[in-house]
Amino acid sequence: MASTKSRDTRPELIVRSYLYHRGYRFRKNVKGMPGTPDIVLKKYGTVIFIHGCFWHGHTPDFHIPRSNSEYWKEKIERNRLRDKRDKERLRNAGWNVITVWECQLKPATREKTLFEIEYLITRFYIKRLKDKARKKRYAEMEHRIPVAGYEGKTK
Ligand SMILES: [Zn+2]
Repeated sequence: MASTKSRDTRPELIVRSYLYHRGYRFRKNVKGMPGTPDIVLKKYGTVIFIHGCFWHGHTPDFHIPRSNSEYWKEKIERNRLRDKRDKERLRNAGWNVITVWECQLKPATREKTLFEIEYLITRFYIKRLKDKARKKRYAEMEHRIPVAGYEGKTK
């Protein structure tokens, strides 16, 4: 939707330029993935959505305009439901989904927010590596476990 998804808005630039300078490589506005994520870090299994607080209905600071309030209420609610559904689909497909709200990128909290984003990316990456290694170890162990009925056969 053009009204909710303008390209290269300032909050998106803040996050992208931070990640880029920290050495992360990514694709942006990836069509063909649920919700067209703003940032996709394939190597890290992470997608990032940068949401405008109004359009996506950020609860703590969301105020419905007084005029046409029914219209806005329904519209924003639809956006929220769609966001929720898109993120569920991504998580079910194994992606780490990070949501960044516009208000979290205001100067007072920006540094903290960017640090947290990087932390969440790295934490998921490490967890995935560990899971892979563990799976490999289990697969090797299963190989050594005698199959049921093994003893019987030796009699
Ligand atoms: Zn907000």
